[in-house]
Amino acid sequence: MSYRLLFIAVLSLPLAAQTTTSELPVLSLLTGLLLLSFIYLIKLKFDIYKLQKSQKNNNSGQLGFYSLHDDISGFPNKFFLQQQLDELLKRAPQQTFSLLLIKISQFEQINQLLGHSNSNLILAQIAQRINDQLKDTAEALTFEFRQQVPIRLCHLGGVDFAIWLDTTEQQHLAEYVADDLEKNVPEPMIVHGCAIEYQLHSGIANYPEHGTLLSELSERAYLALQHHSWLQGQSQVFNPGMLNYSSDKLTLMAELRQAISDNQLALYVQPQVDMQSRQVLAGEVFVRWRHPRRGLMTPSSFLALAEQTGVIYPLTQWVLREAVAMIATLEKARLVSKIAVNISSKDLLQDELVESLEFLFDKHKVKPAQLMLEIKEGALAGAADKALSTIQRLHRMGVELALDDFGTGLSSLAHLRRLPVQYVKVDCSFINDLHKSDMHSAITGAIIDMARNLELGVIAEGVEEVEVEQKLLRMGCHRGQGFLYSRPFELSGFAVWLKQWQQSQTKAP
Ligand code: C2E
Ligand code: MG
Ligand code: MG
Repeated sequence: MSYRLLFIAVLSLPLAAQTTTSELPVLSLLTGLLLLSFIYLIKLKFDIYKLQKSQKNNNSGQLGFYSLHDDISGFPNKFFLQQQLDELLKRAPQQTFSLLLIKISQFEQINQLLGHSNSNLILAQIAQRINDQLKDTAEALTFEFRQQVPIRLCHLGGVDFAIWLDTTEQQHLAEYVADDLEKNVPEPMIVHGCAIEYQLHSGIANYPEHGTLLSELSERAYLALQHHSWLQGQSQVFNPGMLNYSSDKLTLMAELRQAISDNQLALYVQPQVDMQSRQVLAGEVFVRWRHPRRGLMTPSSFLALAEQTGVIYPLTQWVLREAVAMIATLEKARLVSKIAVNISSKDLLQDELVESLEFLFDKHKVKPAQLMLEIKEGALAGAADKALSTIQRLHRMGVELALDDFGTGLSSLAHLRRLPVQYVKVDCSFINDLHKSDMHSAITGAIIDMARNLELGVIAEGVEEVEVEQKLLRMGCHRGQGFLYSRPFELSGFAVWLKQWQQSQTKAP
């Protein structure tokens, strides 16, 4: 448009030259007007261009913000952290730092409960709380200030956050900060009248000891976080031993926690019999894990893990609930109702074990003497006083106690005298080949003699053959269990099995 006006103005110049003097002022006025319009239009175009440019700059500024900040919490993201570290490590390559990784746990439940947008708000609030808690931690890398508040938290994405700490002056600073955050940040949040609970878990990797790249340090801090939250007593600081854990094992650890509430555990039972009269005396229960992908798993593949991860106590609680309920059911059906349950030495460190049993006996109107608890002999060697005092309490309550896998540990007789146990169970490994191995025969004989002297009962486990049964009877051991009588089977079928066993015994000549 402006070019067209210019064209008219330029064209009008020769025209002006041909005009008479009287027409001249009109034409010059016209030409002037046209020139003015042209100049105005050029300016207008320039202004529009400037406006468009500034808008473009603004947009790219916003884009810049979002590419360096998390869009849910507004905190700097990992790209921002990386940028800052590139600068920092150029300036201070000799210093020591820690990458502290923080993860919010139980957030999936919050998500399911409150929906996506509400839980995003909560996530942002938790991030704010963590950052507030860091206000006096001047050693933490400060990314920026907002309303005079230092921003020291970086949002890596999802429920993962990071703090970069200068540890040159204080070697264990990251651990103190981690403990402080884990302890002081997670106060429940009230949303729509509901208290929303969450926890923080942390993992630490040190620069340059554990890596010099952010990616490497994040990976290692994450590994430390998993160990710290899933394995009892593990520090949250990375150590190279953690690299030995396959991701498979780590996944299993996480799944095990969920398995109890997801009803994936099952109880199997194996009868204990009087080998002479063939009367059933009790049933020992064994836990199984019906894993959705791995199938039926026996304790050897997950119990040690359960002990390390602290899942053993909830697992034992589940087993005890099922076992005591079964005692009540069998009693009602007037069947043999003594049940033996294996417990871990870790369970004995739990204050409420005794109270929880009292509650169960009360609830199901069951006598404590109907329950036998089996504790592995080996697990008791060097046991804490606490474990011994729990054993005393269980004994006073009337629960029967047996030392399992006897002969495999290193218990001294003196130690055995101090324990209020009523039975020792001779380990499978001695019983299986009792009729073939002189050594195992000698050990079993010694255990039976010792038990007799201490007035303890003896139970032989792993009786598979009649020859073994007969030899045990000759040696003075009357109580046994093993494949000879029955392989372990589902506890729900115990009542039916007991009835059939009774019938078969009365029919037998
Ligand atoms: P344990 O208490 O000494 O149980 C005996 C193990 O030998 C059981 O293995 C049983 O299935 C198996 N067994 C029974 N009869 C025979 C036999 O005639 N021959 C052979 N070769 N084996 C026989 P399972 O069920 O795999 O349990 C292994 C161990 O896991 C148990 O040893 C016990 O210490 C532990 N365990 C099982 N269930 C639980 C539980 O609910 N809690 C805890 N804390 N430990 C459990
Ligand atoms: Mg046992
Ligand atoms: Mg055993």
